[in-house]
Amino acid sequence: MIYPIVKYGAPVLEQEAHPVTEFDAELRRLVADMFESMYAAHGVGLAAPQIGIPRQLAVIDITTGQDPAARLVLANPRIIRTEGKQREEEGCLSLPGFHADVNRPARVTFRAQDATGKSYEKTGEELLARACCHEIDHLHGKLFIQHLSALKRDLIRRKVRKLAKAGDW
Ligand code: ZN
Repeated sequence: MIYPIVKYGAPVLEQEAHPVTEFDAELRRLVADMFESMYAAHGVGLAAPQIGIPRQLAVIDITTGQDPAARLVLANPRIIRTEGKQREEEGCLSLPGFHADVNRPARVTFRAQDATGKSYEKTGEELLARACCHEIDHLHGKLFIQHLSALKRDLIRRKVRKLAKAGDW
């Protein structure tokens, strides 16, 4: 099932998500639906709050479906180590049409559980490091615009408000 993506302005995007406690068939269904929804939206990552579900769950595939081995399920993820710095343009499925340069670590090691509840650790660089930080931020109610200057953030907020007023958001 393809879920519609929740857009900026929805309270669920700015709330702390609840930990995943049950690794059952329902969770595996949700994970499969999240991959399907992410691919349909041409994203490289999707967090559960973006489909209106406040759970600490995200999926990432920086190959956009090209390599099945690149699929990552992050349940209850925690960043445990970061190194270096990178600055690249970033966007978000919940803020369609908006992009901005965001500082992120160049290399990120995180610990998470997979869809069966098994703990694992992984280190990602470049786009994977960026995607991990971006998706984990979502689970704590944080969007990429919170990494921008107040000026840039307000500009985007104003534009979104205008679009919403016109019924285009
Ligand atoms: Zn996002």
